[in-house]
Amino acid sequence: MKNSKIEQSKKIVREMVELYCRRHLKTDTIPEEYSHLIDYACRRLDHCRFGEEKGACKNCPVHCYAPKEREAISRVMRWAGPRMLFYSPKAAILHLFGK
Ligand code: SF4
Repeated sequence: MKNSKIEQSKKIVREMVELYCRRHLKTDTIPEEYSHLIDYACRRLDHCRFGEEKGACKNCPVHCYAPKEREAISRVMRWAGPRMLFYSPKAAILHLFGK
């Protein structure tokens, strides 16, 4: 299921967190806090109640994240979202349109 929406979303989240760490935090090694965030986001996606019908998490009426992780992923997305158009245009478009 490599091309499933869930797998695509996991890949995009990973890319965005990595971009945030590399460019914003200026480190090539993903800090523990952020590798936890990637794992957490991937687990949430694995258990997403909407499955392949899911839209963008930021528009989700449920939002299944705990407050701490929600705040962390929002911070990463705010920073990395616009920059993804430059670094990974395909991922950015998929993310923006929740495809
Ligand atoms: S925030 Fe919503 S769309 Fe995203 S994984 Fe959780 S339930 Fe699914």
